[in-house]
Amino acid sequence: MIISVTMNPSVDISYRLEEFRLNGVNRVENVLKTAGGKGLNVARVVHLLNSPVMATGILGGTIGDFIESQLQLDGISHDFLKTDQESRNCIAILHDGNQTEILEAGPTFSKQEEMQFLQHYSKLLEKGEVVTISGSLPRGLEASLYSQMILLAKQQQIPVILDCSEKILKQVLDFQEARPLAIKPNIDELNELLNLQVSADDINGLREAVSHSCFSGIDWVLVSLGAKGAFIKYLDDYYFARIPKVPVVNPVGSGDSVVAGLAVAILQKKTVENVIKTAMTTGVLNAMETQTGFVNSEKFDFVYSQIEIQKI
Ligand code: ADP
Repeated sequence: MIISVTMNPSVDISYRLEEFRLNGVNRVENVLKTAGGKGLNVARVVHLLNSPVMATGILGGTIGDFIESQLQLDGISHDFLKTDQESRNCIAILHDGNQTEILEAGPTFSKQEEMQFLQHYSKLLEKGEVVTISGSLPRGLEASLYSQMILLAKQQQIPVILDCSEKILKQVLDFQEARPLAIKPNIDELNELLNLQVSADDINGLREAVSHSCFSGIDWVLVSLGAKGAFIKYLDDYYFARIPKVPVVNPVGSGDSVVAGLAVAILQKKTVENVIKTAMTTGVLNAMETQTGFVNSEKFDFVYSQIEIQKI
C-alpha cells in the first residue's frame, strides 16, 4: 500500500465573480469547494490508477470533516490524526480575468501533536510499502519532521518519495542521515534550491545541476519540465523523457500526478524505463483534465506508448 502524507491540507474554495467589488458586497452563485493539498492529489491519482493507497496527515474541525467526506466520496481510504484545531480554507476569487487568493495560515501544532502524529504514522507504516510526502508544513512543524518520517520509513525498508520545495526541501536535503528514495522538483524549484537559472533545454546544465552533492544518496532525482517532459537522474544514469503534444486543459496538479505515477511504478517494482514512463504518463494525463489531481486511466496506454526516453 502507498501511504500518501499531506500535513497541510485545506478546503479549496473557488468563487467565480463577474466583477469584484472591493469594499462592497459580492454575491457568489458559482461556488466550488474541493479537498485540497498536494498529497490528496497524489492519493486520488494513485486510487484512479487502481493501486492501494491510504491518505494521512492531520485534520481538525468541520473543515477537516469536509475533507474526509470528499475523500469518502472519491472512495479513497484515509486515516488522519485528528486535532481540535480547525483545518484551513484557501479561497480563490476569479474575477475579470484575475485570480485573487486568500490563504488561511491554518492551525499551529505543538511538539506534543508532532509526537502524536509520528506515533500515528509509525502505526500506518506497518501496512505501508511506499510513502509519499507532499507539500508544505503547518505552523509549529519543521522540516525535521519530514526527516524523522523518512528515517522511520527507512527503518522498515520503506522507500519515500518527497515532493516539497524551498526551505523545507533544503533542510531535508541537508540532513544526510535520512535520504528519500526520490525527489521531484520542477525546474523552478531546482533552480531556486541551487540558486541557478538552468533552462529546460539545457541538457548539460540540467545534468550538472542534478549531480550536485546535495542530492547524494538519493536514487531518483526527477526534474519535471512542464510540457517539455522531464530530466532524470537515477543512480549514476541520466535520462531525458519526452512527452507527446496533447490538448492541455489544466496542468495544475501535474507534478502531484507524477509523484503518484512514481509511487505506483516503484510499488510494482517496475524497470527504470517503466517507472519514468509511468510518471510522465500520469503527469500528462492530469494536464488533459479539468480537475486538479485527476487522471483518466482509460487513456493511460495511449499516452504511455508515446513517451520517449533517451539515455544521456
Ligand atoms: P509541477 O506541477 O510540479 O510544476 P510540471 O509542471 O513540471 O510539475 O509538470 C509535471 C509533469 O506533468 C511534466 O513532467 C509532464 O509530464 C506533465 N505536464 C505538465 N504540463 C504539461 C503540459 N502543458 N502538457 C503536457 N504534459 C504536461
